[in-house]
Amino acid sequence: MSYPFGAVVGMDDMRLALLLNAVSPAVGGVLVRGEKGTAKSTTVRALAAVLPPVDVVLGCRFACDPAAPDPACPDGPHDPGAPGHTRPARLVELPVGASEDRVVGSLDLERALTEGVKAFEPGLLAAAHRGVLYVDEVNLLHDHLVDLLLDAAALGTAYVEREGVSVRHAARFLLVGTMNPEEGELRPQLLDRFGLTVEVAAPRDPAERAEVVRRRFAYDADPAGFAATWAAEEAGLARRIAEARARLPHVVLSDGALRQVTAVCAAFDVDGLRADLVTARAAIAHAAWCGRDEVTEDDVRVAARLALPHRRRRNPFDAPGLDDDTLEQALQDARPEDDGDPDEGDPDEGDPDDDGGGGGTPPPPSDGGGPDDHSRAEGDGPAPEDGQYRDNGSREAETGQAPERAAVAPADPFRARRLEVPGIGAGVAGRRSRARGDRGRVVGATRPTGAVTRLHLTGTVLAAAPHQVARGRTGPGLRIAREDLRQATLEGREGNLVLFVVDASGSMGSRARMAAVKGAVLSLLLDAYQRRDKVGLVTFRGTAAELALPPTWSVEAAAARLTELPTGGRTPLAAGLLRAHDTLRVERVRDPQRRPLLVVVTDGRATGARGGDHLGEARRAAGLLAAGDVTSVVVDCESGPVRLGLAGALGTALGAQTLRLEELAAESLAATVRSVREAA
Ligand SMILES: [Zn+2]
Repeated sequence: MSYPFGAVVGMDDMRLALLLNAVSPAVGGVLVRGEKGTAKSTTVRALAAVLPPVDVVLGCRFACDPAAPDPACPDGPHDPGAPGHTRPARLVELPVGASEDRVVGSLDLERALTEGVKAFEPGLLAAAHRGVLYVDEVNLLHDHLVDLLLDAAALGTAYVEREGVSVRHAARFLLVGTMNPEEGELRPQLLDRFGLTVEVAAPRDPAERAEVVRRRFAYDADPAGFAATWAAEEAGLARRIAEARARLPHVVLSDGALRQVTAVCAAFDVDGLRADLVTARAAIAHAAWCGRDEVTEDDVRVAARLALPHRRRRNPFDAPGLDDDTLEQALQDARPEDDGDPDEGDPDEGDPDDDGGGGGTPPPPSDGGGPDDHSRAEGDGPAPEDGQYRDNGSREAETGQAPERAAVAPADPFRARRLEVPGIGAGVAGRRSRARGDRGRVVGATRPTGAVTRLHLTGTVLAAAPHQVARGRTGPGLRIAREDLRQATLEGREGNLVLFVVDASGSMGSRARMAAVKGAVLSLLLDAYQRRDKVGLVTFRGTAAELALPPTWSVEAAAARLTELPTGGRTPLAAGLLRAHDTLRVERVRDPQRRPLLVVVTDGRATGARGGDHLGEARRAAGLLAAGDVTSVVVDCESGPVRLGLAGALGTALGAQTLRLEELAAESLAATVRSVREAA
C-alpha cells in the first residue's frame, strides 16, 4: 500500500512535473534534485496509483496494447483480436547496482545455438513499458546504464544484441530520476536529456512540517485506513489525468504562445531547440491539465520554470531555478497584444548567469564558460607569483566581489600521465587499468560459469569436433551441445575509483605552490574524466579531515570543491588517511568491482597538538591502507631548498609509488621540465 499521492505535503513543483508527464509522456521525464529526507521517493512511488490503468495482451511479457500490438514484440505476433486484460500502470524501480542484462534483458545464447530458439528474458525496460521507470540516486548510476536508459527513453525502443542475435521491443515509459546533488552531479549532457527538473527542499513552515509528520504517523499506524481516507482524492486525481490525456490532442498552441516559448528560451540563452520543444510540450500538457483548449501565458510560464533551469546551467556554482524578472520580461516582450515598453528597465540587469560566482575558475570539463565569465581569466596563464594573487584580492574587494578570503585558484591543468592499478580487475569499462570483462580484445576461451554472453567460436568448434561421430553426425552441419560452448575471455580497461587525499594545510607553502598543487590535482581530475573513473576528494587541514566530495561521477563537482578549497593551518595527515580508509571501505560495499586508486597529495608532514606523535600516527594509518590492499600513489609536494623527504617515507609505509609534482605530467612534458631544470 503506497502513500497516497494527494497526501504529500508541499513538493508542489515536483508533483506538478510528474503530473504533466503523466498527461503527456512526450515531455520527457523528470529529474528531481534535493537533499535526503524530502520524501522524493515517496512522492514518485505514489504516482503509479493515480496513473490510468493499461490494457495489455494476455500473456504478453512486453505489455502490448491489444488495440495496437507491437509488430516486433518478441512474444508476438499477436492476433488483432488477441484477448487482453486491464491492469494498473506499473512503477518499476531500477536499482543503481543493476547489471546491463537486468536493465535491457538477456538473450539465452545457449538455447539460440543448441536449440535454434531465440529465447529472451525481458529486463526492466520491458517491465516499465507504458508505466514509470524510476531511478533513485540516478547520479550514482553508471554512465553506461544512463546512456542505455536515455536512448531507450528517447527512441521508445529497447534493443539487445549478442553475437548477431538481436531482439527489439517497445519501451516507452515515464522516466523519473531522483538525486541528492551533494553526492555528485549528473554529467551536463545527461542533465539536458531529462525533460523537466525540479529542486525540492523540506518545508520551512513549522505548521507544514508538523502536517508532514502527522500524516506520516497516521499512514505508518494504519496504511490501509489512511489510504481509505484519501481514496476519493486519489480517484479524483486519476480521473483528472485521464481527462487531461483525452484533451491533450485538442490543445492549441497559437503562434503568439509559441513566440513566447521561443522568447523565453532565447532570454535564458539555452542551447539547441530541445528546450523550446520541451517547453512547448510542457505548456500544452499544463493547459490540458488545467482543462483549457488553448495554451496561455501562464502555461508557458509554468513550463519554462520546469523545463529551463537545468538547460541554462553553466557550472555547479549556479543558483538553481530561473530568474523571475528575466522570465517576466521575456514573456512580456513577446506578448502578442503588447508592443513592449523599452523604458521598463534594462533586461540585462537581471541576467541570472551573471551572479558573480565569488571567484574561482569554473571546472574545465563543463561545456560552459561564456564570455561573461569574468573570473575565468584569473586561473588562466602560468601559475602567478604570490603578489599577483594579492592584487586580485584587492581588485575583487573594489568591485565588491568575493569579500571572503578567496581560495587559491588552481594553475593551468596539463595532460597527466596515466596512473594505474596493477593486476587485472573485473570492473566496468573505462580507460585506466587492465581488466577482464565484456569488452576489449579476445585473449582466450573458457567454459562459461553462467550464461554465455560472448561466444568464442573457435573454442566452441574445437570442443564439439571430437564428439561428432558419437553424436551421429552424417551431414555438413556441426552438432553442438551445451557443454561445447565456450565463453570468450576479453581484456580491456576498466574505470577505477580515484580517491584524492589532498593536504590543504599551511605546510604546503606559498599560495603559488598551492596553486600548482591544485593545478596538478585538476589535471588528474580531467584525466579521470576521460578515463571514466569515479572520483572522490578527502581534504585535511587544521584539526580535521573532511570528505569534501563523496565518490561521484561528477568531475565538475570535484573540480569545484578543489577550486573552493581554503588552505592553511596544521596538518592532520593521519586523519586524512583514516578518512580515506573509511570512504574506501564504504565504497567497496557499494561498488565491489571498482578497484580504488588512492592519490595522496602531500609533502609528508604531519602536525597537530603539541606532544603528539603525529608522524607515527600517519604511518600507522598508512599501514592500515597498505594492509587493505589499496593501491596508492603519493604525490610529493615538498618544495624549497631544504628537503625532508617525508613524502617518500609515507610512500614506503603505503607501499605506494611516490612521484614529485612535476612528474605527474605525461612523459613528454615531464622530460621537458627535467631538461629545462638540468640546463639551469
Ligand atoms: Zn506483445
